[in-house]
Amino acid sequence: TGYTNQALIDKDHKYCAQNYKPLPVVLSKGQGLYVWDVEGKRYFDFLCGYSSNNQGHCHPKIIKEFVEQAQKITLPSRAFYNDQMGLTAEYLTKLLGYEKFLPMNTGVEACETAVKIARRWGYVVKKIPQDKAEVVMANGNFWGRSITASGACDDPSRYTNFGPFTPGFPLIPYNDIAAVKKVFESNPNICGIMFEPIQGEGGVIVPDANYLKNVKELCKKHNVLMMLDEVQTGFGRTGKLMASDWEGVKPDIVSVGKALSGGTMPVSGAFCDAHIMDNIKPGDHGSTFGGNPLGMAVARVAIQTLIEERMVENALAMGDVFAEQLESIKSPLMKETRGRGLFRAIEVVSDAKVKGDDLAYILMKKGLLTKASHDYSLRLAPALIIKEKEIVEATNIIKEGFQEL
Ligand code: PLP
Repeated sequence: TGYTNQALIDKDHKYCAQNYKPLPVVLSKGQGLYVWDVEGKRYFDFLCGYSSNNQGHCHPKIIKEFVEQAQKITLPSRAFYNDQMGLTAEYLTKLLGYEKFLPMNTGVEACETAVKIARRWGYVVKKIPQDKAEVVMANGNFWGRSITASGACDDPSRYTNFGPFTPGFPLIPYNDIAAVKKVFESNPNICGIMFEPIQGEGGVIVPDANYLKNVKELCKKHNVLMMLDEVQTGFGRTGKLMASDWEGVKPDIVSVGKALSGGTMPVSGAFCDAHIMDNIKPGDHGSTFGGNPLGMAVARVAIQTLIEERMVENALAMGDVFAEQLESIKSPLMKETRGRGLFRAIEVVSDAKVKGDDLAYILMKKGLLTKASHDYSLRLAPALIIKEKEIVEATNIIKEGFQEL
């Protein structure tokens, strides 16, 4: 476009709502592991569209499908059937081991869909008294920014001055099985418990071994639906297809989004079995764009590509390499590194007056992009196509970044 980074940032500041605080870089191209700014500088992308670009930027197979489908039909609406939705639902349900798929667009819609499915099941099947159904959630959760999601969290920046909120979402500490037991035992009106198998925005928080299994057991005992939000952890990010595969646990409902379309467009949805999903009847829920043939065709190819090109296996192997590399960073400012597969974070010590985004800014200057996922932790989540050499190169940038903090 002939503009500098700064000129376009100025336009953003003048004309756009300032509801984000991006790093000062304007991107105009992405390919594989890398993105480029308008001045032609190349960066490693270690944010990956918050794990939307798991397959790498502009994967040729995904873009080919995108362009070809866009030339056929993009949005007939759900007033009619389209020739892509059934094919994609068949492919994805078989892949994930569920009977039914309800397609939406964004992650928050997928999670809200899961909540609606669970509440409906709670009234129709569990026979919870009208308007009493509750879905338990965890402190530190992030499932989006709708009014309901903003109310069902413990982050003041999300709920302050946005109320009143949707009731019915008791919050408990994350990764605390005693808290799950207590809330289930004290409340007969709980229809579901929804949480992330690894908290993403909460700072890449990995729960203790067997946490998912133990929650599942309690869910069975108390006739509660286990609902996992795999919007960020799903589709290979953690080195397994779904993060719940780490414990061999299948939730009753799972919500997905982000990498479902390989970072091309909003495609999301919820999966569960028919005895749960079929309580949703025609007219009960939906979205104009949900299930559109462009999104469905792209999603099918995006996930086929992820599987065929063995990106999940690569994420597992490269995750180990990355963990080892990050452990080798010796800095008094580094508190710890954690994560699973290629979903990792480093945490800076909280009393040294540096924050995650201070490091992110330095890394940007050095050619690696990411963002803090909590005040003091920096998320590191490259595309799942990364190889050892590139991990070493990226880690060296991070090491140098620590020296400049
Ligand atoms: N759930 C999780 C775990 C997420 O990380 C996010 C977004 O970061 C969402 C839901 C919301 O997705 P979206 O921003 O597409 O609404």
